[in-house]
Amino acid sequence: MSRLDPRDVIAAKRDGRRLDPEQLQWFVHEHASGDVPDYQAAAFLMAAFVNGLDEVETLALTRALVESGDTLPLEGISRPKVDKHSTGGVADGVTMVFAPLAASLGLAVAKLSGRGLGHTGGTLDKLESIPGLRTDLEPDAFERQVEEVGCAVAAQTANLVPADGALYALRDATATVPSIPLIAASVMSKKLAVGTDLVLLDVKAGSGAFMKTPQDAEALASACTALAHDWGRPTRAAVTDMSQPLGDAIGNALDVLEAVRLLRGEQHGRLRDAIVMFAGEAVSRLSGDAMGEGRARAAGAIDGGDALEAFRRMIESQGGDPRVVDDPVGVLPTAPVRQTIEATASGSLAGVDAEALGRASADLGAGRRKKGDPIDPAVGIVIHPKVGDRIEAGQAMGEVHARSDADAEACLASIQAALTFVDHDVEPPPLVYGWFG
Ligand code: URA
Repeated sequence: MSRLDPRDVIAAKRDGRRLDPEQLQWFVHEHASGDVPDYQAAAFLMAAFVNGLDEVETLALTRALVESGDTLPLEGISRPKVDKHSTGGVADGVTMVFAPLAASLGLAVAKLSGRGLGHTGGTLDKLESIPGLRTDLEPDAFERQVEEVGCAVAAQTANLVPADGALYALRDATATVPSIPLIAASVMSKKLAVGTDLVLLDVKAGSGAFMKTPQDAEALASACTALAHDWGRPTRAAVTDMSQPLGDAIGNALDVLEAVRLLRGEQHGRLRDAIVMFAGEAVSRLSGDAMGEGRARAAGAIDGGDALEAFRRMIESQGGDPRVVDDPVGVLPTAPVRQTIEATASGSLAGVDAEALGRASADLGAGRRKKGDPIDPAVGIVIHPKVGDRIEAGQAMGEVHARSDADAEACLASIQAALTFVDHDVEPPPLVYGWFG
């Protein structure tokens, strides 16, 4: 492509003009290869943040991101392939259970996942708390495992959509992350670079999510599904509640323990409902079952033990200790200090600051402040009540798992501050606000 001037691209967006796909492609490519410096890319991002990108521009940006590196066509996989992605939340252990569950239903899940950052957890960190388990799978080994076991969860390689990594770091540093077209292009480029038959998006809304309101989450869900439609990739997006932790565990090993309980059929509630809903959607879309039938098959694969066996095979195949399925407490790392979270007064739980709980767990060592920080797999929070539950003073609501008494005390204070009780009945929020695509 002939040399354009980065200032023309920046000026066009600054003045609210629409960019040609060629201009966008050139700009992204030149930035990824180091020929457009970060200060010009940052200026472009701010102009795009302020003036927006329309559907055609968002598609062109996405295409440029996908074409910046390798793709993973997954042509060797014989089963129908589904990817499921969450925009990030607290106690959001859906993926860890969804992958083996979908595999046990005859689907293939080739999941490239990320690490936790800030108050949100990451599936890779959670799985790596299983002794021996590796997530740095080579593309060949990853694909072989997906074909043989039906699922694999691995770290995204540096060469898959590298331009997104470069732009995302700049967005983080320039307060330009929360832009719907920029998020849609970033999220979808990583989905579209992998050759799946169906993408399921879980767009979170509420205090523990990027999008604080269902309306903003719906706008993001619509932008992502419009993009996928223009690309020609079947995609469905659910806007789901993140006004409180979805499951009970906020940590890493604690989330694996919860996943094993779910896979054994021992835990019911909102997290299981979300998992069954996504697996039901996948199996209905890809196997042609009616929706109710898909969900019933998903619930049956949990209760009958097939999903647990698929999890065992996935763990073993990735070098992890498969006994975690039979004796999770004996196999997973544990923290030396455990303190009970007690209700200080009676009432109905009316609100939870999910982000504050995520941060409290991160402060124990379960999360990271910045990319690359180490994490402590054993620590975290387990908290059971959900909005609408009636609690009595002194009731045990869960436990803090910490390295020291001082850490546990600080965490308990943060948890109490994050919970709001009232003396009247409270209606629980819906699990799902709606489906898009
Ligand atoms: N997750 C992504 O991958 N990209 C964004 O822009 C935001 C969340």
